[in-house]
Amino acid sequence: MSCLEHPCPANAQGAAGLAFTRLVTHLLAAQCLTEPWPEDRLNDVSDGDTFDFIVVGSGTAGSIVASRLSEIEGWKVLLLEIGEDPPIESIIPNFSGSLYKSHHVWQYYTEKSNSTNRASVDQRSFWPRGRLLGGTGSINGLYHMHGSYGDYEKWQVEWKDGWEWENIKKYFKKSEKIIDPFILSKPELLKNYGTDGEFVIDKLNATYPDIADKLIKAYQEMGLTYLDDFNGDTQMGVGKMRGGIYKGKRVSTATAFLNSARDRKNLYVLKLAFVTKVLIDDKYQAKGVNVIVSPWENGHFLCI
Ligand SMILES: Cc1cc2nc3c(=O)[nH]c(=O)nc-3n(C[C@H](O)[C@H](O)[C@H](O)COP(=O)(O)OP(=O)(O)OC[C@H]3O[C@@H](n4cnc5c(N)ncnc54)[C@H](O)[C@@H]3O)c2cc1C
Repeated sequence: MSCLEHPCPANAQGAAGLAFTRLVTHLLAAQCLTEPWPEDRLNDVSDGDTFDFIVVGSGTAGSIVASRLSEIEGWKVLLLEIGEDPPIESIIPNFSGSLYKSHHVWQYYTEKSNSTNRASVDQRSFWPRGRLLGGTGSINGLYHMHGSYGDYEKWQVEWKDGWEWENIKKYFKKSEKIIDPFILSKPELLKNYGTDGEFVIDKLNATYPDIADKLIKAYQEMGLTYLDDFNGDTQMGVGKMRGGIYKGKRVSTATAFLNSARDRKNLYVLKLAFVTKVLIDDKYQAKGVNVIVSPWENGHFLCI
């Protein structure tokens, strides 16, 4: 360690110093930004195995569904995902856009229609979807909004199967852990959030907060009401969003729910597993899936 005991002044002209600084920063970031993703359990399953539940896709929905189901120790749960573990660009929120043209993303385009995307080439717009643990929640904008309560009421009226807001709200709250000090200090806002769940929600830092503040002021001048929070009684207004973020790192349903379930013996996560068919029985019930997962060309799993 003589270099530390006897440092010498670096005679760098700029580029070298910058390159070394970037290298050190990258190595440090790489160390801190790894996540304890669940291991691939292909070696623990065989073609034809049966499960209590098979979940296709470990996206925003699939990750939490598989996690909640596998809380019941007696249930054997299989989670099949065509993608892999999210790279660092997913964890650093502002870098996720760099993944849109990579193999971690399904690169879809909207179909041409006469009413949308009329200024786009071929009237189609790029519509990326995540192809990795956490799905689109591993590449999205982090914003956490419960949505409009009126939408849930409409679903409840149409289907009468428990989609009313009061019912949904308790599941949102069960999963949430709000840590934004502003919300925590305001009982009238705090009542809309959970505080003991797995999914951490905080304020989102803006790179240029003064621009955001000026925009908000401009909208207020146009007559929009300032909202302290978008998960309150109304979403009609202008304000700043909260999001799934913890200490500068993305929170997705994969980081929040799959990582904490990684040691469960009854949860089988398979990566690079492409489901090609849902097997339907004579009574039109889904009984299993066909899957391509190395080394099987056409494996299958069944539900019991
Ligand atoms: C750029 C962008 C920004 C967004 N920003 C926000 C935001 O800030 N806030 C917000 O609330 N919403 C946002 N959204 C929308 C939100 O992210 C999605 O609506 C949500 O993640 C969809 O969840 P999902 O579970 O339905 O699907 P996904 O999360 O897309 O999950 C589907 C999963 O299934 C896997 N899969 C698909 N087919 C197969 C197969 N055959 N076999 C195996 N696996 C398969 C996929 O790889 C994927 O992992 C954004 C979306 C985009 C594209």
